[in-house]
Amino acid sequence: MVMKPVTVMVFSGLDPTGGAGIQADIQAISAHGGHCLPFVTALTTQDTRHLTSFRTVDTDVLRDQASVLLRDIHVDAIKVGMLGSAGIADVVDDLVDSLPELPLIIDPVLNAGGGGQLSGEAVIDVLKNRLIPRAAVVTPNCAEVRELGGCHESELAARSLLQTGPEGVFVTAGDEDIDASTMTHKLYSKDLQITDYQCQRLPGLFHGTGCTLAAAIAVRLARGECLSEAIEGALEFVQSCIQSAYAIGQGQLIPDRWQG
Ligand code: PLP
Repeated sequence: MVMKPVTVMVFSGLDPTGGAGIQADIQAISAHGGHCLPFVTALTTQDTRHLTSFRTVDTDVLRDQASVLLRDIHVDAIKVGMLGSAGIADVVDDLVDSLPELPLIIDPVLNAGGGGQLSGEAVIDVLKNRLIPRAAVVTPNCAEVRELGGCHESELAARSLLQTGPEGVFVTAGDEDIDASTMTHKLYSKDLQITDYQCQRLPGLFHGTGCTLAAAIAVRLARGECLSEAIEGALEFVQSCIQSAYAIGQGQLIPDRWQG
């Protein structure tokens, strides 16, 4: 009999460029041999250069979709990306509360890669006070960790987020020192250890690397890897996706998730 793939329930926005959001999640999870259970939280309007606007989906539809699916399919991990509104964040929070045994991976999507806000204060409030405290890992970039941690210094902000309860805060450095040849991502763990992950910075601007990384970590945790193993493998995956990234429009490049 064919082995059943691990399943990752994903809450994410739809990005019509296919670079970020739910398409990035589906591709990254599939490329790892997992099965993505995609829940669209919002419809964005954007190209590879700018985000113009977005609209969240009907919260009742999202709630119904989740409850019908959970009666049928076993879930191995939950990944949360763009939430878009406090109403959507509430639905996701209720659902996550009902599945306390599952690893929860949170990519706190606050802004689009090309600029433009994707989540406001009300969403940040739910993330900080309800979702992040029970996460296996949260994956902010430097700007996001400072915004969430309410502090101008990334390390202090990460420590303050860690104190709320997640197992790990993995701060990615892709948005800092963009002219440097390397970048150092940092995992702040519950046992107060800090682990550095140094990566080569490849030239270019990319769309959807944060989503790809968090989805790869999620499918690896679903497979039973420990957090440091999942992060290491996911970083290697993202690096090879970026190495073969392609231009589909006139702005940011799209990571090739089949090469990862
Ligand atoms: N999720 C959605 C729906 C988006 O549109 C975007 C960016 O445009 C993101 C997430 C974040 O993308 P990135 O992985 O580049 O941070």
